[in-house]
Parts: sequence; C-alpha cells; structure tokens
Amino acid sequence: KKITIAIDGFSSTGKSTLAKQLARQLGYVYVDTGAMYRAVTYFAMQNGFVKENYLDKEGLIKELSNIQLQFQLNYDLGFAEMYLNDVNVEEPIRTIDVSRNVSQIAEISEVRAKLVEQQQAMGRNKAIVMDGRDIGTVVFPDAELKLFMNASAETRAQRRFEELVEKGQNVTFQEVLENVQQRDYIDTHREDSPLVKAGDAIEIDNSAMSKKEQFELVMKLIEE
Ligand code: C5P
Repeated sequence: KKITIAIDGFSSTGKSTLAKQLARQLGYVYVDTGAMYRAVTYFAMQNGFVKENYLDKEGLIKELSNIQLQFQLNYDLGFAEMYLNDVNVEEPIRTIDVSRNVSQIAEISEVRAKLVEQQQAMGRNKAIVMDGRDIGTVVFPDAELKLFMNASAETRAQRRFEELVEKGQNVTFQEVLENVQQRDYIDTHREDSPLVKAGDAIEIDNSAMSKKEQFELVMKLIEE
C-alpha cells in the first residue's frame, strides 16, 4: 500500500533521521523540505538579499523565478542531495549562518507558495516521506500518516551542537540553543502557515527515546 507520510515538528527533533530510516525501510522517496528553504536562503545570502539586520524582501521575490531547486540522488549515500541552479549545495546549506537566516526567508509568502507547489508536485501519486513544518497542514493535508515530533529545546540544541561540531563547525552550545529557540519562535509566530500540529497528527516526544525505539514505534503505526 503506497501512502504519504508527513513529518512535521520543531527544529532538530530528528525528523530527517526518522524520515530517512522510514524511506529506506519502506522503499519510499524522502523529501527534506527544510533543504529547499535553506537553498533559497543560501541564494539570498550569496546575492546580497540578506545580510546582518538587512533583508531585501522585494528584491528576493523578484528573483524567485531564477532560483531552480532540484533533488538529485547520490548513489553512494542512497539519498537525494540539494542542487541550487545545478550546483550541489548540500554542505553550505547546513551551516549555522544559513540556519540563522532561514526562518525569516521562510516567512515570505511568495517563497512558501513556490516551494509548496513544487513539494506537492513531487509527492503526487508517489509513496513519499516528506518532512518539514507544514507538510501535514498545508502541503499534504490528506496524508495517510502524520507525525508531529517534539523534544525539549535543550535536548534538540545538544543534538544539533554535536552534529555541527562533528562537521568541524566552530559554534558554542549557547549559540546553537539560541538559534533553535529563535527558529521555534519565528516558525510558530509567522502569519503564513505557522508551525502547528495538524489535528490528526500523532505527537511523538523523543526527548527520552532512542532512535531505534522511535523507529520501531513508528513502524508499528504504519503497520496498523
Ligand atoms: O528542517 P530544517 O531545520 O532544515 O528547516 C530549516 C528552516 O526552514 C526551519 O527553521 C523553518 O523556518 C523553515 N521551514 C519551513 N517549512 C518547511 C521546512 C522548513 O518553514 N516545510
């Protein structure tokens, strides 16, 4: 049975780890919608539309038609990587600088409209696992399975901090915690598609759960 699985939740709740595990186990396509918002943000940074305390929203909106996003499968990794205008941006979009700017870019309605349309096209009639903030509420309101992931801000910041350090990025735990809290705030307070749990989503708080426990729990839900 082919179904759409929508995974939403706060930053760094392990959505993508779970989504990848499910996609691999079920043979589904995995789409990381955060990567798309990050790629638009990276474009905006590279082209001077966003700097410290500066955002040229109208300028960016005018350029949106020149931003081409594409996922391409990396056969070695077994997962798709994000391409921005034919350049692989998988690495630069994961930096803390992009994380600092991404939520204000994701607030722009024109940006959301463009990305939501692409996401819906990618998932049409396909077995898909998609993660983000508005998948169960806006992108696929009819998804067969909706999950809403949560964990304490400290747990999430600790996980993200370890990931960034592992990648060799120079950050402190405090900076990562502030970034997680700032994104939570913007994501839940924006006017267009704020982050909320869909009424029919199943909430999973994984503060005290291992990845394996979480995966087994969700596989049970799918088999039901
Ligand atoms: O999932 P990730 O943390 O990479 O997403 C980065 C940012 O992109 C989020 O903090 C949020 O502001 C935005 N986003 C969004 N809607 C989505 C996915 C991500 O607004 N569906």
